[in-house]
Order: sequence, then structure tokens, then C-alpha cells
Amino acid sequence: MTAFAVISDLHANLEAVEAVFHRIEQLGIRETVCLGDVVGYGADPGPTTRLVMQHCKWTIKGNHDWGLFHGAEDFNPLARDALMFTRRKLQPSVFTPGRRAAWQFLRDLPERREDFGYLFCHGSPRDPVMEYMLKSDGFLDPEKMSQNFQRIDSPCFIGHTHWPGIHRPDFRFSHATDEQCEFVIAGPCIVNVGSVGQPRDGDPRASFAIVYDGRVEIHRVAYDFRATQAKILAAGLHPALAERLARGK
Ligand code: ZN
Repeated sequence: MTAFAVISDLHANLEAVEAVFHRIEQLGIRETVCLGDVVGYGADPGPTTRLVMQHCKWTIKGNHDWGLFHGAEDFNPLARDALMFTRRKLQPSVFTPGRRAAWQFLRDLPERREDFGYLFCHGSPRDPVMEYMLKSDGFLDPEKMSQNFQRIDSPCFIGHTHWPGIHRPDFRFSHATDEQCEFVIAGPCIVNVGSVGQPRDGDPRASFAIVYDGRVEIHRVAYDFRATQAKILAAGLHPALAERLARGK
């Protein structure tokens, strides 16, 4: 039986990433794929990127990874400041040639992947790096939903909104919770694996998915977010980026 883990939106949160990799190993899962936003917001972009390079079968590009190498005008002020910080931490120079591998890894990430018979994107099937598939799109923007569903005939995995759950072919969204964390996947459906490093669904625990033949489980792992908060503050990043980790918002 195939079983693999899907992680997304790590956002340079090393404590959350370590906790998630540890849990994946405990579960006996040997392959992990990463849907991007390895960096941005958090204080540990270098160590987080190197862990991903070591542990993941492949990684695709998120909007924050993209933003490192492009203008940051489209980002909100908090995200923009964090991108500047991330560039300072990661960009190689003649004095820091050891950074080159991680920098090139992030620069060269592909925008989408097909593997295990599924499609994987950071944002959405039609706009893989930037577009948000919101839980409300089923009734607020059915045109967007149908255009995305037209592009898939099998399950697709995404991240980007930091809200774990499943968009069904009738466009309804089911939020993944402790009570409902396992979903059958067959035919077209879009599974959001949630965020490892900055959950926003009101649950501060790191979120990721394990995919088995025909089903997906959303897992949550508690981690030492106070250590992460202390590093964000010490790095001079905006206090809101630390504070939200305690609330999962
Ligand atoms: Zn993200």
C-alpha cells in the first residue's frame, strides 16, 4: 500500500517542522512531499530549508518562496518585512558561500507536480502559486471553483490558505477537525493539508496530511510555539507574527 505525507506552509517555523517530521517517522511513513512556503514569517529560514532538502522527496513553490526572487509589492506589510529578513538570512555572498545550496533550491522549485497519480499545487490547479481556494468559494465564487475542478479528474492536494479540509466536487468544503479528520478521496476533489508553521483555523497545532490508497488523514501535532515566538521577537520580526502562533489565527 502506498502511504506518504504531505506538508505545506512551513514558514520557517523550525520547532513545528521538527515536530511534524518526528511524528511522520513515528507513523512509519517513509516519503514526504512539500507544497511550498518553506520560508516567510518565521525566524529560521536556513535550518528549515535544509531540513526540507534532507527529508522531502520533492518540494514545489509557494508564493513566499517565489517572493524571495521577485518584487514583494503584492505582499502585505508583515509578509514583506519578513521577506526582507528572509533574504538577508539566506542570500549567499562571497562571505557566506555555504548558503548557496539552499538559495538555489528555493529559486529552482517547480510550480506543480504530479506523483502517486495525484496533482500537487501550492495554491490552486489553475494558478498554482498565487490563487487562494477559500472555504467560502463554493458559494461565493462557484465560477472559480468550477474552473479549478475542470482541470482535475483525480484528487489534488494544495495548501496556501492554512485551513485544512476538503473541497468536494459539489463545491462544499469540509473543515478537518479532531472529530472529522479522515476523508475518502476518489475522483476529483481538492484536499488542503493545512499549515505546519502558521495554522489559521483556530487550532495552534501544526497540520499535515498522510495519504493512503483512497483516503487522507489530517494530523495535528502540538509543538513548543513559545520557543518559536521567542525567536521571532529576538529576530526583530513583527510581534503579531509571534502572537498569532498561540491562537492558530
Ligand atoms: Zn503560506
